[in-house]
Amino acid sequence: MPPEHLADFIAEFRAALDARGLSYGMFGHVDAGVLHVRPAIDMKDPEQEKLIRAVSDEVAALTQKYGGLLWGEHGKGVRSEYAPTFFGELYPSLQRVKAAFDPYNQLNPGKIATPAEEDQLIAKDSDPDLLTVDGVPMRGQFDRTIDERAWQAYDAAVYCNGNGTCYNYDVDDPMCPSWKATWDRRHSPKGRASLIREWLRLQSQAGIDVVEESRKKKAEGGWGFIKSFPRRVVNTLSRKQHHDYSHEVYDAMAGCLACKSCAGQCPVKVNVPQFRSQFLEVYHGRYLRRCATT
Ligand code: SF4
Repeated sequence: MPPEHLADFIAEFRAALDARGLSYGMFGHVDAGVLHVRPAIDMKDPEQEKLIRAVSDEVAALTQKYGGLLWGEHGKGVRSEYAPTFFGELYPSLQRVKAAFDPYNQLNPGKIATPAEEDQLIAKDSDPDLLTVDGVPMRGQFDRTIDERAWQAYDAAVYCNGNGTCYNYDVDDPMCPSWKATWDRRHSPKGRASLIREWLRLQSQAGIDVVEESRKKKAEGGWGFIKSFPRRVVNTLSRKQHHDYSHEVYDAMAGCLACKSCAGQCPVKVNVPQFRSQFLEVYHGRYLRRCATT
């Protein structure tokens, strides 16, 4: 946004969010006219999900009114539907560039511009082959299929907002030694939180109540351990014959040092040791510990 228009733009932007009763974080670089806005929308709620379309359309129009640009940093691809409007008469040039380097639309198809030659150029308004803000799969659509009790029980994982602070490369910073040692995202707090979320989703989809499973295991104590032993032996011996996503989660959890740097340093306090122990309690109620099988 041209800095001279920033104050008016912010006032109208805030009015648009306030009118919908949304709370939000707004921060940025005022000297450069750059603004980051994070409205608190519960994407697990289908009604709130609809706000994405309404707010995006209004903000796109507002941004254009003040001579700004909607794009910056992450997520520009999923807002591509606004590209023809913003680039206007330059949009066909973008299409020519795309056609020159990616004639078969293989690189990020649907993002920023579609490839087109002279007779197919889109001069204005909209390009139907571009991604739309409400036409892409959204995390909330998956998250809402997780059983609510499991969601609450695994709050140390599910509230990871993916900001990626844990992808830290500073050797003097304690944040996640397992990520620094491997540079494998599965071995970062974000990776582990994502794996747990997907595991919870799959468990819910299969009708498995992991919260009840944990409760039962605790209640049964030593007797439960003995009683479940034959089943755990069978499960363990046959595990190569049946795909179980739990093993992928286990492998990622096995590399965690339980140092708790994530719990202290993550801005949303993703706490891997906490949900790792919850997961392992369930996992070892189904399978023998590795040291007994290798
Ligand atoms: S507890 Fe595990 S996930 Fe968290 S910072 Fe330490 S090694 Fe990384």
